Amino acid sequence: MSKGASLGESVARAIDVSQLETPCFVTDLGALEANLRLLATVQQRAGCTILLALKGFAQWSTFRLVKRYLAGATSSSIAEARLAREELGGEVHAYAPAYSDDEMRELVTLADHIVLNSPAQWKRHRPAIEAARRAGRKISTGLRVNHEHQEVEVALYDPAGACSRLGTTRVNLHEGDLDGIDGLHFHTLCQVNSDALERAIAAFELKFGEFIPRMKWVNFGGGHHITRPDYDIERLVRVIQAFRAKWQVPVYLEPGEAVALGTGILVSTVMDTFHNGMEIAILDTSATAHMPDVLEMPYRPVIVDAGDPGAKPHTYRLGGMTCLAGDVIGDYSFDRPLAVGDKLVFLDMAHYTMVKTTTFNGVRLPSIATHDPATKRITVHRRFGYHDYRDRLS
Ligand SMILES: *Cc1c(COP(=O)(O)O)cnc(C)c1O
Repeated sequence: MSKGASLGESVARAIDVSQLETPCFVTDLGALEANLRLLATVQQRAGCTILLALKGFAQWSTFRLVKRYLAGATSSSIAEARLAREELGGEVHAYAPAYSDDEMRELVTLADHIVLNSPAQWKRHRPAIEAARRAGRKISTGLRVNHEHQEVEVALYDPAGACSRLGTTRVNLHEGDLDGIDGLHFHTLCQVNSDALERAIAAFELKFGEFIPRMKWVNFGGGHHITRPDYDIERLVRVIQAFRAKWQVPVYLEPGEAVALGTGILVSTVMDTFHNGMEIAILDTSATAHMPDVLEMPYRPVIVDAGDPGAKPHTYRLGGMTCLAGDVIGDYSFDRPLAVGDKLVFLDMAHYTMVKTTTFNGVRLPSIATHDPATKRITVHRRFGYHDYRDRLS
C-alpha cells in the first residue's frame, strides 16, 4: 500500500548495504521495536488489546520482539492462524470471508477467536466450534458486520462500499442470527487517522448499537495508521476510552501496516542501463514479483538519494527483471549516472511486500534479513532459490 514520504529514511541510511547480496528485504529491529513500544503504550493507555494482522506483516524471525509488546495476532487463513500459533503465541484470532468444513476442523485447533463473515457461515460451523469447546478448546465467536460507512477512497481497499462481500450489513442481520455470538467485528479502514475511526465507530453504534450490550467484546479491525508521525494518538485513546466507558466491553484493534510502517527496506542492484527514448535501468528486483502494490495500489516507492523525474540531472525509468512490459517501478532522477552494480534502496518495504511476493517468471524472491542497530549487523534469515519456484508448481 502507499507509503508516507521518506518514512524510514534515517533508518535506511543507518544500514550499511554495501556488502549485501541483493535483492534483499532488511527490517530494522530498532525501528520495529519503536513501533511496537508505541502500540504497547496505546494498549495500556486506551485499555484495549492490539493484535498483529499477519496479512500485512508476517516476518516471523522478528516475532520474538513482537510477542514482547502485542497480545497476539489475527489471521485471514488457516496458514496464518497456524503461523500465529506456532511462531508467535498469545491470542490467535481468525477471520475469513468463508471457511470450508475442512478448514474449520483445523481452525478450531488453532484459534481462540473465530469471526464469521455471515450468519450462514456461523450456522454452518457452529456444530464444529461447539464440539471443539466440549473437547476443551476455549473459542470465542464473532460476526463481522458492515456498517456501510465509507472512509477509504480506493475501491480496492474499501470493504464498506456498495455490494461488498465483507461483513454482514444491518438489513441482512435477523433476529436470532447473533445467538451464540460473543463479539462484533468491523474492518472498514485503511491507512487512516483516528478521526476516521471515530466516525466509523459512530456509524457502527448507529447500525449495530442495540446488539453491543450482549457482546463480550468488539473488534475495530485494522487500517489504523497509528505509527505514522501525524497520527492523532490522543484522539485514539480518547475515542476508545469513551467507547469502553459507554458500553463496558473490551476492545480489540488489529493493525497490520502500522506495526511495520517505516521499518524495512528493499535493496536492489542495477543490472543494466541503456537508452530507448529515455535512460532505462534494469534492476534485480521487480514491481510485479517483489512489490506488487506498486502496480496494484498503485503508488510510487521512495528511493534513497533519488528524486522526481527531472529534479536531479540524470533521470531513469527503473524497471524489473521480468518479461512483463509493465514491470516498471517508475521514473526517478539521480545526481550521477547509474552504473551496473550500483545499489538502490527502496524505503518502507516491510509491510505488504514479503507477504505478497510471487515467483512469476521464475525470478528469485528477495532474501529476508534483519538489521540490529546496536551491532550494526545484518542477519540474512532466508535465501530463496530454484526449489521455491518449483515447489509452487507440479
Ligand atoms: C487487512 C486487515 C487488517 C489489517 O489491516 P492494515 O491496513 O494492515 O492495518 C486487519 N483486519 C482485517 C480483517 C483485515 O482484513
